[in-house]
Amino acid sequence: TAATTTTKSAASAAAAVAAPPVRRILSGIQPTGVPHLGNFLGALRQWVQLQDQPAQTVVYSIVDLHALTAHPPVPPATLRDSIHNSARVLLALGINPKKSILFQQSQVPAHTQLQWVLTCVTSVGWLNRMTQWKTKAGSSPADAAPPAALKMGLFAYPVLQAADILIYRATHVPVGEDQHQHLELARDIAKVFNTTYKTNLFPMPQAVSTSAKRIMSLTDPTAKMSKSHANPKSRIDLTDSDSTIAKKVRGAVTDSDPTVTWDPDTRPGVANLLSLYAACRDLDPASLPEGELKGVVGMVNLKKKVAECVVDTVRPVRDEYLRLGGEVGYVKAVLEEGNARARAEADATWEMVMKAVGMK
Ligand code: ATP
Repeated sequence: TAATTTTKSAASAAAAVAAPPVRRILSGIQPTGVPHLGNFLGALRQWVQLQDQPAQTVVYSIVDLHALTAHPPVPPATLRDSIHNSARVLLALGINPKKSILFQQSQVPAHTQLQWVLTCVTSVGWLNRMTQWKTKAGSSPADAAPPAALKMGLFAYPVLQAADILIYRATHVPVGEDQHQHLELARDIAKVFNTTYKTNLFPMPQAVSTSAKRIMSLTDPTAKMSKSHANPKSRIDLTDSDSTIAKKVRGAVTDSDPTVTWDPDTRPGVANLLSLYAACRDLDPASLPEGELKGVVGMVNLKKKVAECVVDTVRPVRDEYLRLGGEVGYVKAVLEEGNARARAEADATWEMVMKAVGMK
């Protein structure tokens, strides 16, 4: 009847208003060591900003299963400490457990359950093309061994990463530039799953990028700054003291030209210092030699300026991290609550996956 039709269309109009587009944000960090300045400028700073938008679920994961791919393996006691300390750093830099689900990946079994299902629709050829696999495989000490000695976990890592994203049906993924290829793969995997099982279960996750591009190693500016790199002088940890930061910046590889120019191709060391300065101050690195750093001559002077601005960026995070050292119970409780909330979200998707595939 006309009355019912009116009621129905009023109801659907109300539903349209009451259900704004829901964003689901997911990102992760490996507990392979203390997060460094590259992690912060490339990804974590944005994690904090993304928490404050309405109508969304925000999920941040300490991806300890991924950390098992490290070679040689991380000693168990170190891994345990790194998981706790990563949570401390994330809380210290402003992840708010009231706004975000902060949890430990291995405590949510649906990640690996989904990984298996996704492994069964992912071509080996796709994984062979992953730059990180090629780089890590090429530079690992197992290099001398035949390729057959390389571990399955390292090869399948991007499929687990796809599962991390898709198990929350995430729509947005804030990651550094080094992870864009993996995110592209996650989209391909989502697409092939949806096509194979004639479903629209998985949305296509989009990258959310920061203006800070890849931050490079201080000792080898052609490689990215990385937690798992053996040389601690190659990175600035978010827990470093002011004097350690100054020392590491002083030791950064540059070149013999005393002028300050932006030339990433021919002067990667200087460009990396300018990128660090620019990212800390939210400026464009190319503009610095004629802008904020006009008149600075000599690497000693440039490094002094860079160290000052890095110290300003790191200090508040480090001080809060140190304070949280006295709050072990609180940090553990945050993770436990996050684990339970993440399990509820992930299990709901896993039910849908089992139905889509025909296991239920
Ligand atoms: P590992 O050395 O153990 O591989 P990592 O330092 O590369 O670790 P991840 O835990 O893999 O860091 O990454 C956490 C986040 O930090 C990701 O979003 C990644 O894109 C970002 N990230 C990592 N390294 C850099 C870097 N050098 N510059 C900018 N962003 C980075």
